[in-house]
Amino acid sequence: MRALEYVRAADADQAVELVAGDPTAAFLAGGTTQLDLMKDGVLHPALLVDITRLPLHAVECDGDVLRVGALVTMEELAAHPTVRERVPFVREALLSGASVQLRNMATIGGNLLQRTRCRYFRDPDVPQCNKRAPGSGCAAVQGTARMHAILGASERCIAVHASDLAVALVALDAVAHIQGPDGQRQVPLTEFYLTASDSPEVENVLQHGELITAVDIPLLPNGARSGYLKVRDRGSYEFALTSAAVSLVISGNAIQEARIGLGGVGSIPWRAWEAERELTGAPVSVENFHRAAASAVHGAWTVPGTAFKVELAQRTLIRELRALSGAAV
Ligand SMILES: Cc1cc2nc3c(=O)[nH]c(=O)nc-3n(C[C@H](O)[C@H](O)[C@H](O)COP(=O)(O)OP(=O)(O)OC[C@H]3O[C@@H](n4cnc5c(N)ncnc54)[C@H](O)[C@@H]3O)c2cc1C
Ligand code: SF4
Repeated sequence: MRALEYVRAADADQAVELVAGDPTAAFLAGGTTQLDLMKDGVLHPALLVDITRLPLHAVECDGDVLRVGALVTMEELAAHPTVRERVPFVREALLSGASVQLRNMATIGGNLLQRTRCRYFRDPDVPQCNKRAPGSGCAAVQGTARMHAILGASERCIAVHASDLAVALVALDAVAHIQGPDGQRQVPLTEFYLTASDSPEVENVLQHGELITAVDIPLLPNGARSGYLKVRDRGSYEFALTSAAVSLVISGNAIQEARIGLGGVGSIPWRAWEAERELTGAPVSVENFHRAAASAVHGAWTVPGTAFKVELAQRTLIRELRALSGAAV
């Protein structure tokens, strides 16, 4: 039996102070990831700081930016009228994840900070996991890797970042508001996550004790078309094998703006910058979509279990581009 202290934080300052002051402490939001990992024996915090009563539940529109409190639930955000109208692919990404019960508990901050679903990471009986036990190796590289990453991956770790929401948010250039022991800062989500390179155990730029308080989501311009396509082994309640969050602004037959996030394939929610560059200014055509898709998976690093994703990710992206542009499928 391990000792565990539980504190319900009265305000954000106290929450930050408590976690920052104890290297073993962790924030607790909806608990749908944190408590699972504790029950599985993967995480052993000695102090849980419950943040659910902090005043971080608001969704406010300021011009073309939607500020979302970190404790807004996935269901609440998906139902928000501005999300429905101005960033509908965020709604689609949210509703494609987990189950209604989970989405009613799970918060936006917790979703962005959820840990990988790699089965070896979640099984402390497996000794080789560089993310759980730095320097121990990676069981997935020689193991079952169907759900693993091909982009931002290496022999040190091929774990995928599992959040659907984050895929749409990196495509939108969303920004995280962070409060820590040294004050406040803002970090674009495209710079927030760290690929599994030398130190797979370091997943993002947060220092211990830093709290996400809100996320700014830039709204799409009027007339933009967006969609989230998630390919998975069953129709619901399943993580992505591959996914594509795409928004296009099309004028005449030319693509004026393209935003693309890929899920199920990256050690981080993957922004497909090269594919966007290929498409921007280009005519709508299936050939251009194929070229962009090839750019999107450039540099893929695969093991036998993940090799199929190079093709599947391209097909996923091409299908969504065709659906949005109205090109014949
Ligand atoms: C069966 C199942 C299926 C799922 N399917 C999907 C899916 O298909 N797609 C998908 O995207 N997700 C899926 N999820 C993941 C789910 O969305 C996340 O578990 C959830 O969003 C986490 O939010 P939470 O509030 O419960 O976080 P918690 O579990 O409370 O916290 C998660 C982590 O974030 C930290 N944390 C939480 N809030 C903050 C904050 N504001 N600042 C700093 N640190 C913080 C915690 O300390 C912890 O480390 C699934 C989960 C389960 C259990
Ligand atoms: S893929 Fe990453 S998380 Fe999974 S076993 Fe390898 S090192 Fe651990």
